[in-house]
Amino acid sequence: GGVPRGQAGAIEVMARRRDGSEFPAELSIGEQTFGGEVITTVVCRDVTERKRAEEQVRQLNQELAQRLKHGVEMVADLAASLNPREVMGRLLTRVVEAVDADQGTLLLVDEGRLVVQDSFDLDRRMVLTRGGEFSAGPILDHALTERCVVLNGAVDPSCLSGRLKGWLAEVRQTAALPLVVAEEVAAVLLLARRRDEPFGDRDLETLQLIGNVATVALRNAQLFTTAEAASASKSEFLNMAAHELRTPLSVVVGYLSMLADGTLGDPSETWKRPIDILNLKAGELNKLVDALLLAARMESGTIQGESELVDLVHLTREALQRAEPRTQLLGGEIVLEKPAGPILVEADPVHVARILDNLINNALTYTTDKPWVRVTVTGDADVTVEDHGLGIPHDRHGLVFERFFRVNDPILPPQPGTGLGLYISRELARRYGGDVLLEASEPGGGSRFALSLPLPAARVSEPAAQGARAGSRRAG
Ligand code: ADP
Repeated sequence: GGVPRGQAGAIEVMARRRDGSEFPAELSIGEQTFGGEVITTVVCRDVTERKRAEEQVRQLNQELAQRLKHGVEMVADLAASLNPREVMGRLLTRVVEAVDADQGTLLLVDEGRLVVQDSFDLDRRMVLTRGGEFSAGPILDHALTERCVVLNGAVDPSCLSGRLKGWLAEVRQTAALPLVVAEEVAAVLLLARRRDEPFGDRDLETLQLIGNVATVALRNAQLFTTAEAASASKSEFLNMAAHELRTPLSVVVGYLSMLADGTLGDPSETWKRPIDILNLKAGELNKLVDALLLAARMESGTIQGESELVDLVHLTREALQRAEPRTQLLGGEIVLEKPAGPILVEADPVHVARILDNLINNALTYTTDKPWVRVTVTGDADVTVEDHGLGIPHDRHGLVFERFFRVNDPILPPQPGTGLGLYISRELARRYGGDVLLEASEPGGGSRFALSLPLPAARVSEPAAQGARAGSRRAG
């Protein structure tokens, strides 16, 4: 026992040559009987080569596992963040680790200049300031023109400015990885080692792999920045437009109501209908501006609202009453299903009413037949609004909650609206920990939207809670 066994029936030992040097050997022992005599044979085989090969395979496996681990971690990391700019920062950290570098810098190409976008140093010794210009001569020029990874290229000290001279003084080896987006080199990842170990073939492979991931991440970051800027200017415009519209509109509405109620003298018969239409349209316009303002406030996070305990059943019944005149006018029907008792939720009743009005009005609007709507309040504080209307194409389900998004159905004459209703409804619901969802919708088969609000947590009255705490303290 205790002797390690190699191949079946073989024993591994360390053997010694005549000159005293040791080598791994394998002993195969056999026994045979010849005419009553037992003959034992021992074959000793030198397995140095085999051992070396085995060791090599083990090392390769380990390296492969390591690289796989890096790769998986990198992808997981990139997937973890929604902000692509953060993704670029993380990517940089990962690249430095993956190729065993000490320092990495992401340089963006801006009108022929290289500008530091991000910089990472394992020991925080040389972090380059963002926005600084970087020119290092040959290595980067090469990466830019050849569009391929350049390893261990020379850095021309005369190209470096003051702070970068410090960088060069520390750097022994470099690798540059150009990132090509839309046929142009958009950025260069510059990696540096402070020790004198050149980047090798394996690093090259790793960099080429990373290059693909990095290019996608970079393109996302660019798109993100553009979209963000566009969205910000849209919001600003929205806010301004809504504010500017409000004042003149209130003047128009004011005069219109004076015309309608006879304050400015009795309107003649021929004026009555136009005044009614003007009133109606002014009302629509008012709602529109109101929605714009609310959406703008939502974005800047300045909407007011107070939470109180309200009965969801009661609020739903009120919403149905408000919708009644319009339902009659359209010759439609709304049915209500609800539990017997009240369903209490904690929210601002004005906001809940707004959400319900919006869902019910949509259900009445987006149909070609006489509308049929079923509103159901459940014991879990959900309100579903179901219609048999136009439905929403499947590829638009995710979009109806976007600001200003409207499905333009050619069957329907243009409907007044902003495409803000569902956006506002969802944002309002989320304020109270709830949500508005499109539960189901089939083109031609109708839709079901749901408002869900959290049930208030069971509350223990204060003196009782204090008593319980005091009790436990005594016990402990
Ligand atoms: P608006 O009604 O002002 O357009 P919303 O945000 O409330 O804005 O709705 C966005 C779009 O979603 C609508 O323009 C319509 O195309 C679609 N939509 C909403 N509710 C329904 C529904 N119940 N049935 C069919 N389409 C709907």
